[in-house]
Amino acid sequence: MIAHEARRMSLKVIVLDPTEGCPASGVADEQIVADFKDENAIMKLAEKCDILTYEIELANSAALKELEAKSYPVRPAPETLRIIQNKYRQKSFLKDHKIAVPDFALVRSEEHLHELCEQFGFPAMLKACEDSYDGRGNFLITSKNKMHEAFNYFAGRECMLEKFVPFTKEISIMVARNPSGQIESFPVAENIHKNSILDTTIVPARIDRKVELKAKKMAERTMQVLHGAGIFGIEMFVTKKGDVLVNEIAPRPHNSGHYTNEACSVSQFEQHLRAVLDLPLSKPELLSPAVMINILGAENSNGPYAVKGLTKMLRVPGAKLYIYGKKTAKPQRKLGHITATGRTVKEALARAAKARKAVELIPT
Ligand code: ATP
Ligand code: MG
Ligand code: MG
Repeated sequence: MIAHEARRMSLKVIVLDPTEGCPASGVADEQIVADFKDENAIMKLAEKCDILTYEIELANSAALKELEAKSYPVRPAPETLRIIQNKYRQKSFLKDHKIAVPDFALVRSEEHLHELCEQFGFPAMLKACEDSYDGRGNFLITSKNKMHEAFNYFAGRECMLEKFVPFTKEISIMVARNPSGQIESFPVAENIHKNSILDTTIVPARIDRKVELKAKKMAERTMQVLHGAGIFGIEMFVTKKGDVLVNEIAPRPHNSGHYTNEACSVSQFEQHLRAVLDLPLSKPELLSPAVMINILGAENSNGPYAVKGLTKMLRVPGAKLYIYGKKTAKPQRKLGHITATGRTVKEALARAAKARKAVELIPT
């Protein structure tokens, strides 16, 4: 989707991705087929480009750092990526910069986990610090007799324990910063997760004005301290008392920002390009309420698939379908999404639900 926006403005795009014929390769000018960690391939890419950016946290921050040292422009800064790549490092950084986060601590041993559970109370969230996404690195410890299982679940991986936040809402904000220091944020989005994976995004978030302003301020402050250049997704919890805590940061376009394609005066993808190219950022305006619903791989899926129900789906006013073109479906894998706009959130919700219900991915 970044490549789509780039091509609209005649910018040339080269993608590096391990899968030959990856979704972006159909849009980009060229693909380098290589692992995200492949230093030679990253170097080859750098030599062909004026600006390097990434849209996955698994990018090789050490290799990107070396490129930066050789004066290749890498945005967002590899140091920002390094901080974000490790959840403990990320939370410590935020805490050190006085940004409110849930209580957390690094787990040093199984005994230490017991002590921390005692301190934080149950339930508590055990998180693998690295290579975790879509909730796959999370283990909710509901009681004392689950501690052993939880500790073994991430055997050998660095983990942190986090106090469980009984949030009333999960929200996120897309914020962009360009190297000149201009910061612009998008409206607050409300997120509903199912099985720890984003299911639905609703914009504007159904929160009161005070919480909205607080969240916006926190998101912009986070961007300031991170010195990021690019678009970032800031995920937050809202508590019953109206407190806002940062859960985590994604240094890239974010699933909860897909709605911007249809509902905002600038998309998160165009804003990202403006930011990494050090162009003026657009002040995002919400043009209409919107609801995004993800399309995930079915429980027993494992192979190619086709889209069924297109005729019915396309009859829903204000609804738009995205199928990313990933070759294989896998359980809970993000394969596409639907965004519906409407005059009200209620209308957008109804349209998105109707369109989502019409679409089915069937194995072929
Ligand atoms: P993503 O796919 O967003 O990168 P992730 O795997 O990195 O997700 P988190 O965002 O930390 O993991 O957690 C996934 C979800 O688990 C959150 O959106 C939230 O619903 C729940 N969660 C995480 N931490 C806590 C917490 N401390 N208290 C309550 N719920 C939590
Ligand atoms: Mg994450
Ligand atoms: Mg998350």
